[in-house]
Amino acid sequence: MQELRQRIVLTEPEEMAAQPVSVLITGANRGLGLEMVKQMVEAPRPVTKLFACCRDPDGPRAEALQTLAKKNSNIISVVRLDATDLCSIKLCAQQVGSVVGTGGLNLLINNAGVLAKGTVQETSPEDMQHSFNTNVMGPMNIIKEFLPHLRDAVKASGMPGMSISKAAVVSISSLLGSMEALKQSYAFLPAASYRISKAALNMLTVCAAEELKKDEILFSLLHPGWVRTDMGGEEADIDAPESVQGMLSVMASLTEKQNGAFLDYKGQSIPW
Ligand code: NDP
Repeated sequence: MQELRQRIVLTEPEEMAAQPVSVLITGANRGLGLEMVKQMVEAPRPVTKLFACCRDPDGPRAEALQTLAKKNSNIISVVRLDATDLCSIKLCAQQVGSVVGTGGLNLLINNAGVLAKGTVQETSPEDMQHSFNTNVMGPMNIIKEFLPHLRDAVKASGMPGMSISKAAVVSISSLLGSMEALKQSYAFLPAASYRISKAALNMLTVCAAEELKKDEILFSLLHPGWVRTDMGGEEADIDAPESVQGMLSVMASLTEKQNGAFLDYKGQSIPW
């Protein structure tokens, strides 16, 4: 990987957007995660190594991802990762480490998420627990377990500042986690456990951004828009390709100025 990185850095004109060598995406088997994998391998300058993680790589829900992985076997590795299972996260981190070595992992995308509908009064303890386990504990454990690989990427990059070419964690949050935006949307979609868990993910991200800025690892949050996926539903505003195209271009533009920022897929700031 180190050799590959040097080759890529040497051949890239400086003015080109940030380009990670290695990327990991959670929840990569469908929805926005799968679309990210597609666009990253189909890009004019595809990433070098893409770890497409999902909780059941051999199951029927991973068929589209497996087909894509077979066509791009030099780039994509499908790796099991269940965001609610610390053992699977640790195992995945080991597997990724054995591939990237001292080159490290440049970009970690916490995309996997679940949404349970319902007001505060309708939300069961199980709904809340499940939302927290997936949307908050998952990203927290993933960040902690992959930190050594992110730190390796910082060491290997030798670049100043922060970017996804160096080491970054982008977590997919939601406008529904914004307290300021709540009044405009609560009646339409209460989803209390989801909103609370995404607000917690936002706080987790700003804490990590503050704590790890000395390590030069960038942390940002992205709202993908309201997107037509299994989660977003058919009535949503935009399709997955549009959302992902926007998010990838925002990711490529991130610098230390956006450390701890909450942006939408067009790069606009979202109020907390
Ligand atoms: P989908 O429901 O279409 O896909 C969710 C993905 O998360 C699936 O790959 C699913 O895997 C995975 N996942 C769920 N639980 C786990 C787990 N425990 N471990 C690993 N993977 C898991 O959702 P979207 O693609 O629409 O959403 C992606 C992200 O974007 C989420 O974080 C969501 O909150 C956020 N978002 C989406 C919006 C939208 O309008 N679509 C709006 C705002 C934010 P499996 O197939 O195994 O269930």
